[in-house]
Amino acid sequence: MNLTTTNVPAAPCPICGSENDHATGHGAPKPGDASICLFCGEVSIFAKEGGLREPTEYERRLLAFDTRVQMLRAEILKGTRQ
Ligand SMILES: [Zn+2]
Repeated sequence: MNLTTTNVPAAPCPICGSENDHATGHGAPKPGDASICLFCGEVSIFAKEGGLREPTEYERRLLAFDTRVQMLRAEILKGTRQ
């Protein structure tokens, strides 16, 4: 499946506060999907009520073992440090 970029309602990153208004993934993001902030590289979750929220401790543990998330975070963090 190809990656697509979707406009999403602007929402502040719960970690750094930067506004994120696009999402790239396999279709439009759904509640519970992970989001990686392009400004700080931290992972948040698309909330049911809209916007982004910090992951729960359980979600954090799952995300730590998701190699796709870790590879994307590494690429984003490399870009933010250049
Ligand atoms: Zn951020």
